[in-house]
Amino acid sequence: AKRQGRNHYQWYNDALNILMQRRVLLRNELQDAIDHHQLELYYQPLFDRQGKVVSVEALLRWPHPHKGLISPAEFIPLAEETGQIIAISEWVLEQACRDALRLNRQGDCRVAVNLSPLQFYRSNFLHTLEATLARTGLPGTALELELTEGILMNDTQFAIELLRQIRRLGIRVAIDDFGTGFSSLSYLKHLPVDKVKIDRSFIQDLAEGSHDAAITRGIMVMAHQLALEVVAEGVETRHQFELLNGYGCDYYQGFLLARPMTLPALSSFLSENRQR
Ligand code: C2E
Ligand code: CA
Ligand code: CA
Ligand code: CA
Repeated sequence: AKRQGRNHYQWYNDALNILMQRRVLLRNELQDAIDHHQLELYYQPLFDRQGKVVSVEALLRWPHPHKGLISPAEFIPLAEETGQIIAISEWVLEQACRDALRLNRQGDCRVAVNLSPLQFYRSNFLHTLEATLARTGLPGTALELELTEGILMNDTQFAIELLRQIRRLGIRVAIDDFGTGFSSLSYLKHLPVDKVKIDRSFIQDLAEGSHDAAITRGIMVMAHQLALEVVAEGVETRHQFELLNGYGCDYYQGFLLARPMTLPALSSFLSENRQR
């Protein structure tokens, strides 16, 4: 038994070593990608009730030399732990602003950027924002920031004050993945934000009379009473779209309408969308 215990311990140790080696490898590869400017931004359009594109969300992609396109869901958590998220986030903000400037030569289209907690709570975030806008020449009104409930709950007083200053620059703010946090809905009235994005998990199994439908409608009614706009994310079927439309949803994002795409692809998508 003793020998077997030792074997288990040995096995456990080996497995742990392999996991740690993989992490180190991934971290080093990510650093390479950052240093060699290999990260890319894709853009997914958001549509209003008339089917017109009002904004696009910047979504990070890592084209890995052997593994193909790696989703941010896989490397953002790692980058948060290693602190690499800071360099990544600064690049994302700058690139998104530059791309937004180009897009806006074709017609109005706001660009939304996802924020990481580390980025938001860094002491100079407001300054970074102002400096990036000044450097790129993008008006704040063309930029939108997406923050999760988790970020806002971390230090609500600080977050409220910072959001006020951010919105003074003309930048809009959306709460991302809304409904997945455990916070009470009533805190929403204290937050200086413009819109809420109902999390995909509620949209996924949306059906008449379902719990998800009740939650979705509840969020919608409450948000509208607070004069906030509502976005549904992850809209994949016509049926979901029609239900949401019936509930009075303002904006729609999902594979049914458009997938994330490269900037050139987006550019032609937008000119076609405008002609309709
Ligand atoms: P998110 O902010 O909730 O972004 C929406 C995610 O849902 C994106 O995944 C998008 O591709 C996906 N999606 C959109 N429509 C549909 C649909 O109809 N069906 C399904 N199944 N999925 C849909 P993606 O691009 O893999 O990004 C994952 C997460 O990574 C994002 O979730 C966001 O939290 C984070 N992320 C992405 N880009 C950045 C970034 O530049 N900075 C930071 N800090 N986080 C980012
Ligand atoms: Ca988002
Ligand atoms: Ca989201
Ligand atoms: Ca989500």
